[in-house]
Amino acid sequence: MNILILGSGGREHTFAYNIVRSDKCEKLYVAPGNAGTGEIAENLDVDPMDFAAVAKTALEKNVHMIVVGPEDPLVKGIVDYFIQDEKLKDIMIIGPDKRGALLEGSKERAKEFMALYNIPTAAYESFSLQSLEAGYSFLEKLNPPYVLKADGLAGGKGVLILDSLSQAKIELKSMLSGKFGSASDKVVIEEFLDGIELSVFVLTDGENYQLLPTAKDYKRIGEGDKGLNTGGMGAVSPVPFADVELMQKIEERIVKPTVNGIKEEGINYKGFVFIGIIKVQDEPYVIEYNVRMGDPETEVVFPRIKTDLIDLLEATWNKTLNKVKLEIDERAATTVMTVSGGYPGSYEKGKIIEGIETIEGSIVFHAGTRMKEDKIVTNGGRVIAITSFGKDYKEALKKSYQNADKLHFDKMYFRKDIGFDLS
Ligand code: ATP
Repeated sequence: MNILILGSGGREHTFAYNIVRSDKCEKLYVAPGNAGTGEIAENLDVDPMDFAAVAKTALEKNVHMIVVGPEDPLVKGIVDYFIQDEKLKDIMIIGPDKRGALLEGSKERAKEFMALYNIPTAAYESFSLQSLEAGYSFLEKLNPPYVLKADGLAGGKGVLILDSLSQAKIELKSMLSGKFGSASDKVVIEEFLDGIELSVFVLTDGENYQLLPTAKDYKRIGEGDKGLNTGGMGAVSPVPFADVELMQKIEERIVKPTVNGIKEEGINYKGFVFIGIIKVQDEPYVIEYNVRMGDPETEVVFPRIKTDLIDLLEATWNKTLNKVKLEIDERAATTVMTVSGGYPGSYEKGKIIEGIETIEGSIVFHAGTRMKEDKIVTNGGRVIAITSFGKDYKEALKKSYQNADKLHFDKMYFRKDIGFDLS
């Protein structure tokens, strides 16, 4: 089977890593990919947001399956584009349609969906500039801190958590006046939930589902989870505190009603649901839905999946996920993300990366890298994720850190406290 992965991060390199191990994989393409995917697949210079170009490439290369990595093409409707076209509709495209992708593309829609299917989440209301005064009144009824969320996609920056009421009012007005462009035309104001977060990943065919391993990621740039938000600085799987009891609650109260809601609404959803959960005391609440895998969570979740990934994705397309036996590696996996100095603010690219070949006993997943002549150079904020296995997360982390020390590029940085809050 010929397969095309869309995207260029560590998530896509990890998908590629799993897919090339399948006997069913004949030819693997990644568009646009990175230096890591270029080593195990053929990178194509195609923009995932240019659907006509993706379609042309898929037909030219006789692609049987497309795995969509990032959310933007899904929210823009790449799945609809393929399934509505006579020439493209038989290509197995993994991801939800545009309606499904709204669970990530609109926080208001996600909250309405959760309310409709009785899925536990923070109390909320949603406001526009016309209802600014009502927004102020709603804020006055809440206790601090105040959670303000731009309705649309804002590159992971659209959520503000503010301690003072006056600041929350100022920010609400600023958001509704275009702080995040049209993404904040509407703002969801939420009750603050105080707890510990984890991510739950579900693969669904729209009717059946398989629960993938859990993960916890570390979003902030600084140690102790301080400082600016990033795409993610490291991750651990499984989540040690996600015990049987908590997972049962999550499956019964959150996963089943979510898949049921997707089915009830007739959404064409053949792909991943990433459920951001916060555990408050012993009860799970949904913070957000994403309609694709997370990065760097994929770098710890997928290496643990022993089942052939092509089989899993084919079953997703054929709506036979209930017939698949999912096999998971019992070991823990961790990843440590090395980033460019200055990230998530401004940083330089093009730094030569050295030491990759000296890494032993870990898997090197490339994120922002590219080939420059015969050298691998940095090409983004997040550069390389180093994934390791261990009998528990501590043992795995030790290996990730030993190997991170062997890697070098000018101004390289990584957090040294991944997993700090787990013991
Ligand atoms: P991401 O970048 O993870 O996709 P996002 O911009 O889509 O995030 P959310 O995940 O909804 O936004 O919120 C970002 C972060 O803000 C959460 O990971 C969580 O730490 C915090 N957060 C969001 N909602 C709440 C809440 N109701 N109570 C407490 N913290 C919250």
